[in-house]
Amino acid sequence: MRLYNTLSKKLEEFVPGEKTVRMYVCGPTVYDLIHIGNARPFIVFDALRRYLEEQGFRMVYVQNVTDVDDKIIRRAQEEGKAAEEIALFYTQEYFADLARLGVRPPTYSPFATVFVPKMVEFVEALIKKGHAYVVDGDVYFSVRTYPGYGELSGRSAEEQLAGARVEVDERKRDPLDFALWKQAKPGEPSWPSPWGPGRPGWHTECVVMSLYLLGETLDIHAGGNDLIFPHHENERAQAESLTGKTFVRIWLHNGMLTVRGEKMAKSLGNFYYARDVVKLFGTEAVRYFYLSRHWRKPLDFSFEAMEEAKSAVARVYNFLAEAERIPAEVNPADPEFPQFLAKEKERFHAELQDDFNTPGGLAVIQEIIGEAYRRNDPGAMRQAAQVVRELGRPLGLFQGEGASAELGKLSEELLDLVVELRTILRKEKNFALADMIREKLGKLGVELRDSPEGTRWVLRT
Ligand SMILES: [Zn+2]
Repeated sequence: MRLYNTLSKKLEEFVPGEKTVRMYVCGPTVYDLIHIGNARPFIVFDALRRYLEEQGFRMVYVQNVTDVDDKIIRRAQEEGKAAEEIALFYTQEYFADLARLGVRPPTYSPFATVFVPKMVEFVEALIKKGHAYVVDGDVYFSVRTYPGYGELSGRSAEEQLAGARVEVDERKRDPLDFALWKQAKPGEPSWPSPWGPGRPGWHTECVVMSLYLLGETLDIHAGGNDLIFPHHENERAQAESLTGKTFVRIWLHNGMLTVRGEKMAKSLGNFYYARDVVKLFGTEAVRYFYLSRHWRKPLDFSFEAMEEAKSAVARVYNFLAEAERIPAEVNPADPEFPQFLAKEKERFHAELQDDFNTPGGLAVIQEIIGEAYRRNDPGAMRQAAQVVRELGRPLGLFQGEGASAELGKLSEELLDLVVELRTILRKEKNFALADMIREKLGKLGVELRDSPEGTRWVLRT
């Protein structure tokens, strides 16, 4: 499988060590509900995880919870609550939202606050090795001690300065130096340390949790491309300075989400929480929408695009509902049809192996359905349905019951009975009555499809 590595800026053959893939995806800072921009990496990398598992890899998948941060403290002050209370509330809502998005729980969801003692040890080790220094209760990483700084983001020193929007601070040796440990201000959550009470910086939190849970070298580190600089650049500088080893084999960064071509912002009135969009369109339409565009490209959200995704998902489920009522032993009229399906499966995997091109994979699924409909052959439809289920699985799509589940068993059997009676009428050449049945069912939203193998009923949606 080939994946685009942000560090090398090339497609690279992905060769995980020992068949276990150690993967870390930056999780939320729990000061608000997750929005549709936050949801993109969660869904995309959940699908990648599922796909790698289908390929036979054992996945150790870590997605952290940043439960101490300036944003949480600010929100707590605004609401007159404790920071811990805000963090706990939004952590619970985050897990509920992952379920709404069909994202499988990570193998580990470490809380930053639980790892603070490990972070203190880590910062001490960096100081001991000469990569960090203490200034009145704060600890800074000394960027000039790590020669690889800037390689991940590909930024020059000047661009780094502009990107990090660093405040002029006389106490730092270099303006790019970043805080590993921040001295506590009054009323803030704090932990004891050799430098006095304080809390770790965000970049230190992620790097310590990933090293502790996944070892010195991760196979994959992923997140949105807004995290490349400074967050991931800083994580890499710390880890590699301490261990002297490659921190991450492949860095993956997804593109940003826009809303009708604009950056999403509460102030612009184009801001949506993930759960509200799931409520309107359903889990699978949301997943389909995110996976229908390549993960590295920008993704533009609109209600029209969501409607399209919803129809695409409905088309698949209508097909499954129709095809899966056909007995599994019915064979395709064309003996070559299984070869056609085998080729389509190959194409699907070729798309996903090529930098996880999910839009290409979804297009193959829709093509299989189009071809099965075109043939209007029950055996072909039945076999195609099986393949659609199989290919949908690693994307977390098309595993549900589908449209006819809502109909109920009795209604299905009654429709089968009507179709059977109509077949008898046609054999007896009572076409007037047979046509009347077709017309009346049509008004109820049930379409009859006649073929040499018999008649099938389909719900029109
Ligand atoms: Zn992170």
